Amino acid sequence: MTRHRILLLPGDGIGPEVTAAARQCLEAVAAGFDLSFAFDEAPVGGAGIEACGEPLPAETLHRARTSDAVLLGAVGGPAWDAAPRRPEAGLLALRRGLGLFANLRPVKVFEGLEDLSPLKRDRVVGADLLIVRELTGGLYFGEKREGEYEAFDGCAYTREEVERIARVAFEAAGQRRGRVTSVDKANVLATSRLWRRTVEDHAQAWPEIALDHLYVDAAAMTLVTQPARFDVVLTENLFGDILSDEAAVIAGSIGLLGSASLGAGGPGVFEPVHGSAPDLAGRDIANPAGAIASAALLLRHGLGLPGPAQALDAALADTLRAGVRTLDLGGVTSCTRFAASVCERLDRAD
Ligand code: ATP
Ligand code: MG
Repeated sequence: MTRHRILLLPGDGIGPEVTAAARQCLEAVAAGFDLSFAFDEAPVGGAGIEACGEPLPAETLHRARTSDAVLLGAVGGPAWDAAPRRPEAGLLALRRGLGLFANLRPVKVFEGLEDLSPLKRDRVVGADLLIVRELTGGLYFGEKREGEYEAFDGCAYTREEVERIARVAFEAAGQRRGRVTSVDKANVLATSRLWRRTVEDHAQAWPEIALDHLYVDAAAMTLVTQPARFDVVLTENLFGDILSDEAAVIAGSIGLLGSASLGAGGPGVFEPVHGSAPDLAGRDIANPAGAIASAALLLRHGLGLPGPAQALDAALADTLRAGVRTLDLGGVTSCTRFAASVCERLDRAD
């Protein structure tokens, strides 16, 4: 039996609580599917600063590199507001150290939680989309010049960079509803025209996937008028940053959403979208759904186990459909109780 090595980086605030909840669910999946997971744990963020003086201790990066997948909680908090090294720097260093170039952010309006969405119920029913964002190029990493009266940010993409992120999006669409919407601003930007051409060419190899293109302004509008129209949204770094935050609010709580950051073949990093929520830390009231959804992404994209991933996603959706709700969802269920409820549903599905 393959032993999958999973590195847990609980981090700060509610990170350890939601990571423990997700681990519990992974253990229940392992039991149900006869899988073997070896868990290891290391400090990152504020916990890294406390333990080793670094937000990403060298030993943590080493263990991440030699794992099959990394499950991260959250980093940061008021304790390190004045620290010379910021906890958040640990995440950036980890992404760079593992060569991660694709960020996946699924956004789903769960059955039973439609009323928590800021959008009208009839608009959000069935909304279930995946934003695939390029992480290493674009305006973030272009040439920069900053003067007192003039500043410049260069935006660059290579065909190779667009191709490798397109591959991630088309592969994901193949496991979903078979539709990719590529988002760009090709009427204005040269990089967007390269993007569009490259995605078009790449799509030739995927005849079973339906591809369409939207300008980013239209995409931003459509996300709130018809979110259920999207399956996979493929976009560059800055557009992806903005659209993924816009899409996240549709779900109703930041506590529900997970994410995956993937590289070329090495281990990926899977983490909830929310931060360390210091106001909730240590009280067993955080919503672990985002971390559990991240664990499902880890199974699917990190370990290549779509069946177990599907089972975990289904158990999470069932739990929410049954009305099990943490505080952020208007309920009273604790973090540990919520996780136990997901595990019970996994056990029953055996
Ligand atoms: P960061 O800078 O780390 O992103 P932040 O304060 O910007 O932190 P979050 O930590 O994501 O943002 O959370 C903002 C608020 O949302 C929290 O204070 C908390 O009240 C709520 N929240 C975040 N995550 C959860 C969760 N998993 N369960 C319940 N509520 C949450
Ligand atoms: Mg934040």
